[in-house]
This record gives sequence, C-alpha cells and structure tokens, in this order.
Amino acid sequence: MNIRDRYAPSPTGLQHIGGIRTALFNYLFARSQGGKFLLRLEDTDRSRFDESFVQNLYDTFNWLGIRWDEGPDNGGSFAPYIQSERTEFYKQYAGELLNKGAAYYCFCTSERIEKIRQEREAAHSGESGYDRHCRDIPPEEAARRKVAGENYTIRLKIPLGETTCFHDHLLGDIEWKNDDVNPDPVLLKSDGFPTYHLANVVDDHLMEISHVLRAQEWLSSTPLHVIMYKSFGWTPPEFCHLPMVMGQDGKKLSKRHGATSIDEFRRQGYLPEALLNYIALLGASYEEGRDIFTLSELEQRFSLDKLNKAPAIFDYKKLEWYNGQYIRMKSDAELAALCLPYAQSAGLFGGAGTEPTAQQRDIFTAAMPLIRERLSFLHEAPEKIAYLFSEPALAAAEEFIPKKLDRAAAITLLRLGRELAGPMAKMPDDEQAENFIKEQAEKNAVKLGDLMMPLRVAITGARVSPPLFGSLRILGAERSLQRIDRALQFLEQ
Ligand code: GLU
Ligand code: ZN
Repeated sequence: MNIRDRYAPSPTGLQHIGGIRTALFNYLFARSQGGKFLLRLEDTDRSRFDESFVQNLYDTFNWLGIRWDEGPDNGGSFAPYIQSERTEFYKQYAGELLNKGAAYYCFCTSERIEKIRQEREAAHSGESGYDRHCRDIPPEEAARRKVAGENYTIRLKIPLGETTCFHDHLLGDIEWKNDDVNPDPVLLKSDGFPTYHLANVVDDHLMEISHVLRAQEWLSSTPLHVIMYKSFGWTPPEFCHLPMVMGQDGKKLSKRHGATSIDEFRRQGYLPEALLNYIALLGASYEEGRDIFTLSELEQRFSLDKLNKAPAIFDYKKLEWYNGQYIRMKSDAELAALCLPYAQSAGLFGGAGTEPTAQQRDIFTAAMPLIRERLSFLHEAPEKIAYLFSEPALAAAEEFIPKKLDRAAAITLLRLGRELAGPMAKMPDDEQAENFIKEQAEKNAVKLGDLMMPLRVAITGARVSPPLFGSLRILGAERSLQRIDRALQFLEQ
C-alpha cells in the first residue's frame, strides 16, 4: 500500500500548537512508512480567509524545517493543492451525488433556516441542524426552480434508519446511527463553493490519501464523511483521530494557558528543534525514560501504535526544559548566531539595533560558554552578558562585603584580588585560574569564597553572575583592573 497522508489546514488563523502537532504526526508517519506527506490548503471559507495566514504557514514550517513532498508551493502530480483552485471538481462531484440520488437541491433561504433555529430554541426542542425541508422535492420540480433562477445549495441525503461504522486506529470500531448524524449538511454552497465536508472527501479521494490523521475534534464529522465515501462508491481512508492537546487544567489548550501560536514561541526565543521534539511527544511515547530525539530519530521511530488515547497535556515548563537542552547542544558559533539578533535589538553593541563590530562579535562568541548552561531562552542572553560590553553600574557597598566580614576586610580582599586578576586574565583556561586562586587564598589564609566575592562584584557588577574566570579572560587584564580600581576607589571613600 502506498502511504499518503496530508496536513489540510484552513488558513483562517496563525499556526498553533494543535495544528503543528497534526502536521508533525502526519509528516512522521509518512516518513516512517516511506510514504508521502502533502500540504493541502482548505481555503474554501472565504469570509475567514486571509493571505497573511498562508504566509504565516509557510514561514512557520520553514522555520521548523518541515517539508512536504507535494503541496501548493512545490507542486506534485495531484495539483492544484489549493481548494479554491479546485472548485470545478467539487461541482462535478456534487453533481455526481445528485445523479445518484445521494444529494438534493435545497432552496431554503438563510432567513428560513434562521427562523427554524429560533423557533426550536424558544421551544427548547433540543433539535439542531437542517429540518430536511427540501429532501423530497421531486427532481423535475427542483430542476425547474433552478432554471428559474432560484438560489440553491446542494445537500447530502443521509440514508436514514441505517448505521454507519468505521474503524479508528486509536479509538477502535465506531458506530454511529445515521439519524444522529448532522442532518443533511450542505455540500455545495449557493456561491458555488464547497463546504469543508465535500471538498475534504473529494480531495482525500482524488489525492489518494491512505491515512487521515487529524485532531479528535473532527471525529463527529467522520460518520458523515464515511457516508459520502459510500455514496460515491469509494473506499474511505484509514482514520486516526489524535488525542486533544489540553492545558494543565484539563481544558483545551488556548491563549489563557500561554503562547499557542508558533510565532509567539519563536519570538520568545524557543528553538525549532526543542519545539518539534516536545510536540512530537504530545500524545505519543517512543522509548521509556528518554526525552530527547532528533527529527530523523523520530522519523524512524514513529508509529501509530505509539500514540496514546488519553489527551495530551501541554506543559510549558517541560518545553522550557527542552529548550535549555537544545541550547546546550549548540556550538559557540551557532549559539552566538542565534542570540545575536536579540542582543542587537537590546542595544548591547551601542544604541538599540546597532550591529556589532568585529571585536564585539568575537567577545559575544567567546561569552557563549559562560552562559550556555544558564539559558532557557535565547532572549536571556544579552542581559546576562551585558557587563562584558559596557561597564556595569557599581554595586552597593554591602554587595562587596563577604559574610561575617566588614568593609575594611572587603577592601583588603579586593586588593589581593587585584594582584591576581591580571595573571588570571591571561591564563588559557578555567582550571589553571582556579588552581592559582586557590593556592593564593591558602597562602594568604583567606577563604576562597571570600576572596572571589568582592572580585566578582567588581568585575561583573553582581554577586550572582556568569563564571568569573571566563569573564576575566574575555575582559582582559587591562579592563579588569580598571573595574577593580573603580570599585576600590568607591569602597575606600
Ligand atoms: N481543514 C480542516 C482543518 O482546518 C481539516 C481537517 C481534516 O484534517 O480533515 O483542520
Ligand atoms: Zn431546504
């Protein structure tokens, strides 16, 4: 069997976690099976369509590094992959259902439909959907009214009194009484555009889709789709409805929980690898006790049997953890390149937006080992290493004074630190600097921590900072001594 699946978004909003999860699972499934993954734009809801959402879709997948084998931008043998360019097909197939007696013309005005809805609501009847008013209009009469120019839609004629069965890979065998299915929904609207149901089924068939992996919110449409496949005489694809993605409170993930659009995650300094890795685990488990998988590992490991039935809980903390892990895997140069835009707009190299000089760029790259372990997000980088680019504000005097000591002692310690800083700034690695300062602390009978603390505050401006030895090395002897002298002058006042 040729495995073919698809991501079929309606470009009516930004790409968000739920959509990307659907896309990623389809992508991984196709890859794991040596199949094909398609992108199809379901843009038939023209009132909610916006070209910027299409651009957002391309930008998002570009950034994530996920490619489809066939799609609107790269083509394929089933083109076009944009539903608004396929309206002739839908008209043709709606016509086919009419000829088979599996669909019918409906001449109800939207006023009539609305009136029924209101009457039912007032009567608390609990009924919803169309009342099948036009279901039995004789074909000749319908043809006459159509020719006379009456507006019409085409509706599916659901065979009543029957039961529709289908198999869902995750949920098992599902039965649905036809009488409970959305009553005779519209297939072709009065403007000639198809509804989601018609276009989706026709295209999945024409594009030879073998597997439909989609969010569970579409499950209630599936009986309808299966009825349509049967009416056409087509074999339905295999279905697998993916568990919902929930927030920690068990409600469907939404803006209330935090960022949901990929744009937002991107702006916040998440890495695409981290996001993909985490999303791949939303509702699936691959290997006991293992969290980190590269995309190509996931491509090999993915299988429908590894999906969970239970809803997936989106945990922002866990995603943050992933981000930190992927940041740690970056080389200095890679990480610097990723953080640089944030540093530039934060004004690290001059006014906001100023580009770094070659020397600043070198310092920036050299600083990456100092902060790599301390970053959860890329945007945190500039603030953490700002002291390497401009002199930090002088800390308050108390900050320089180690526990149980006084200002005079702090001054003595910082003077000793001043003697050591020059040589340490020239040592090639942390280990050498550390051995050296330890020795000197012992020799001078002071605690290592007490010796380092005022020195750290003088150099970095704070008690808690990136590693001292690396900072001295990057600043160099001269700039380090300037900072120490400034601090001494201040403390000695
Ligand atoms: N256009 C639908 C959506 O926006 C596709 C659902 C499906 O995969 O069938 O998600
Ligand atoms: Zn009607």
